[in-house]
Amino acid sequence: MLHLPVTPSANLPWLTASDLGFASLGAEFATPTAPTPLPSAHWVGCNDALRSALGLPADLWQQPDALDALTGNLLVDASSAMGTFASVYSGHQFGQWAGQLGDGRALNLGAIDTPVGLQELQLKGAGPTPFSRRGDGRAVLRSSIREFLASEAMHGLGIPTTRALCVTGSPGHVRREEVETAAVVTRVAPSFVRFGHFEHFAANGQLDALRALADHVVAAHFPALQALNGATRYVALLGDVTQRTAALMAQWQAVGFCHGVMNTDNMSVLGLTLDYGPFQYLDGFDANHICNHSDHQGRYAYARQPQIAYWNLFCLGQAMMPLIDDQAPALAALESYKEAFPAAMDQRMRDKLGLSGAHAGDRLLVEDLLQALQQDRVDYTVFWRRLSVAVRESAQSTHAFEPLRDLFMHREVFDAWCARYLERLGVPNRQIAGDAMLRTNPKYILRNHLGELAIRQAKAGNFAMVQDLLQVLHNPFDEHPSYEAWSGLAPEWASSIEISCSS
Ligand code: AMP
Ligand code: MG
Repeated sequence: MLHLPVTPSANLPWLTASDLGFASLGAEFATPTAPTPLPSAHWVGCNDALRSALGLPADLWQQPDALDALTGNLLVDASSAMGTFASVYSGHQFGQWAGQLGDGRALNLGAIDTPVGLQELQLKGAGPTPFSRRGDGRAVLRSSIREFLASEAMHGLGIPTTRALCVTGSPGHVRREEVETAAVVTRVAPSFVRFGHFEHFAANGQLDALRALADHVVAAHFPALQALNGATRYVALLGDVTQRTAALMAQWQAVGFCHGVMNTDNMSVLGLTLDYGPFQYLDGFDANHICNHSDHQGRYAYARQPQIAYWNLFCLGQAMMPLIDDQAPALAALESYKEAFPAAMDQRMRDKLGLSGAHAGDRLLVEDLLQALQQDRVDYTVFWRRLSVAVRESAQSTHAFEPLRDLFMHREVFDAWCARYLERLGVPNRQIAGDAMLRTNPKYILRNHLGELAIRQAKAGNFAMVQDLLQVLHNPFDEHPSYEAWSGLAPEWASSIEISCSS
């Protein structure tokens, strides 16, 4: 057993946990667990924008105690709360009930008070917990860099997500398919409560705990529902989670994000993107794209995500039934997805197209476009960006659509679609429409190959690209002339990058 120095709180006053966080739920929810130290910690990525937003000290990255605390090398004595802990949850994985899972490699530091409200902090990869099962509680450098950059890219895109404050690395070994080095990501979110937390207490018949969990989530994150009592409150909670999940799915689909492991234990009740593993942003458009090489059936293929989210919501609804009793209102809350998702999706796509108002033919226009993109595997992000530029420039130039046309092999298909599109777009101020599209259709996304290049350099001890990508991805709608190459098509070798659950 390792004996760790207790953090001198005078050195890390900002790390004092509030007693209003998840840990306040008590021992059934939060199992005290110490981190396991890693040798010779160093910074890999530091998110200064988030540091500042959280009101953390400007010299955070210079503080040796901060480096150690955020690597799990200090036993954080969050004196007003309970210290580091792991939480238990269960879940459905790949459509099957998987039983108990839990924070196998995430350690909670507790919730801290920040200018943007109470925020929970987690160290992902800080060593085994009582829920590690056969895992080692560790995360490797490559997957930690991917999570760091992806969560911040999502934030830059305006998509709800857990955030990442920093990544620290260590020469300590971690065994995967081959031996790699360890890293720890510090994640930040108002809450890390998952559908699986509810499923856990329901499956174990712990109804008091289930109610306490639901009440905590309502009090801390859905205050508008607090005035409701009894079953009405829980139905409303289910309805709100359904709405948030529908909105999130529309945002994923619109930007071409594939999560890769939409198990119920990876679904946030706040409607945040959570647990970045084998995710991928689409390169060439393929509705059937499967980003997770372990997903042999394609359960989590890009086009299936909205349907899977709905299935997952039913698991949450099932878990909440002991609090609700009557099936009808619970079903109604869940079924609101069937309107909320298509409505959100239609709006996202109209925004991408720069269309104002809603017309009957809009959905068909989008479907035909996606079919054309699919047929030629046109790069999804490049297409939308060029379309935005073309619309803006078409105010002056008759050749504005040429660069867009060049993306297609079946040019006649594009031409026919484009004629319909321009008719629908009309001739209002093209410049204004194009400008709005440029704020909707990002120029920069975290393509697999960009992450891979940053990882290769980081493995060689150079973290500059991690930091530069972070800057660019925080502002993905802006021009970054020095990084023009990062907005281009994926190189040939990108298709051979294999991302699996092993991280
Ligand atoms: P994931 O597929 O990453 O969502 O993980 C599913 C479950 O496995 C969660 O309970 C994780 O905490 C756990 N897990 C994943 N990787 C590890 C690991 N290296 N050590 C311990 N637990 C892990
Ligand atoms: Mg997970």
